[in-house]
Amino acid sequence: MRRAVAIAALALAAAGCWGTPPLPEPESKPPDWNLVLLSIDTLRRDHLSFYGYERDTAPNLAALAREGVVFDDALAAFSATAPSHASMLTGLYPDAHGIRSNGRTLDPRVRTLQEILRDRGYHTAGFISGWTLGRATGLGVGFDVYDAPLDKARPQRPADETWAEARRWLEALPDATPFFLFIHFYDPHYRYEPPEEDALRFLPPGTRLRPLDTKALRDPARYGSIDPETQRHYVARYDGEIRFSDRHAGHLFDTLRELGLWDRSLVVVLSDHGETLFERERPADHGARVYDEQIRIPLLLRLPESALAGQRLGDPVHQVDLFPSVLELLGLPVPTGLQGRSFAGRLRGEGDPDPERARFSQAVTKPTRLRHIPETLRDRAILSAIRVGDRKLIEYPTRAGGWYRELFDLSRDPGELANRADEDPELADRLGAALAEWRERGGGDAGEPLPALSPETLEVLRSLGYVE
Ligand SMILES: [Zn+2]
Repeated sequence: MRRAVAIAALALAAAGCWGTPPLPEPESKPPDWNLVLLSIDTLRRDHLSFYGYERDTAPNLAALAREGVVFDDALAAFSATAPSHASMLTGLYPDAHGIRSNGRTLDPRVRTLQEILRDRGYHTAGFISGWTLGRATGLGVGFDVYDAPLDKARPQRPADETWAEARRWLEALPDATPFFLFIHFYDPHYRYEPPEEDALRFLPPGTRLRPLDTKALRDPARYGSIDPETQRHYVARYDGEIRFSDRHAGHLFDTLRELGLWDRSLVVVLSDHGETLFERERPADHGARVYDEQIRIPLLLRLPESALAGQRLGDPVHQVDLFPSVLELLGLPVPTGLQGRSFAGRLRGEGDPDPERARFSQAVTKPTRLRHIPETLRDRAILSAIRVGDRKLIEYPTRAGGWYRELFDLSRDPGELANRADEDPELADRLGAALAEWRERGGGDAGEPLPALSPETLEVLRSLGYVE
């Protein structure tokens, strides 16, 4: 078996795919690497230079990309913060881990990455910037420190504050024991209010930044009322938030180097979901749709000693893969019963890509944000999508108890504008059957409305733009 693996790795190296030293074998002696997981909320993949964006929004992440592996095809489990983070940290889809929308709690029977690493002797700490990932989610369990001082009065904090706390923790760490550091930056999330100079660098010299008209962004009656020049200012604001987050990501990487931890640390950077920016009728949005600008995510992995530097992996991967992959790369056993699959073997040059792998994503229906869909849409229920290669089917629960379908051919229609469900009912049925089977296996979500949230929770979600 070893020999076959070695030969496969050699064959790939000879083909010019992987020319770097091998990574640890599964369940070999743990290499005592630290794990650093940086999640930048609402960060669109296509607003980063190493995924083709023309603006230099994230020079520090771009430098990390040159030292590590860039994943070209990664998907989010959900287009809202708490469900997708829980999927990263559990290897499960939302129906299985229990956080089926923002404002809900992790099933206490589910084991998280932080619990497993803590039980293995890791120091564990999470530094959180948005209320939606606060203690009430249950995600703090397993972290020695879960720094999330966020409440109704102040539901988010900027990256500089979060980073200052994380830095203090890192500097006080005893030597020699490995750690898991989870940092969450929230800045690209609405509202778009970066330091002005970070937005202005993306507008012509001498421009005065236009103020944010929050009503026009949030009021369904005013969707479409923002003129093109103002839209450019808002996108510059969003890109400025990325630039601001990136500066603090750079401080993190520099500090790891200064403390001598860089070459003993596995660094993962990704986002929980993307953002719609004027492509649809509701501008500045996520959480209620699963179009690609919201569910294709950036994913970067930097290995100790920059193994595999500059490589790109085109395999279809998913947030639920992170948990098993990280455990395997750390040389630790991977629990059974996960819904994600490890990509660590592929990084070692083993196996073949699986371009026909089925991947799933979800959101919560909000009919005011989906006005192109018939009025029959059920409110506050789960909508689901399946993606196989370039084919994607989305199913929206209707009030009558059935599904409204959208089918897209992403190779010809990457903007998901032309619904082909009526043109190709045979393909829609085939993907629909696979989606139904997954729903049944994942815990059975038949499109029923979600249980109501408390008025306090709704109030905070409204301030963060999730609820009208
Ligand atoms: Zn989020």
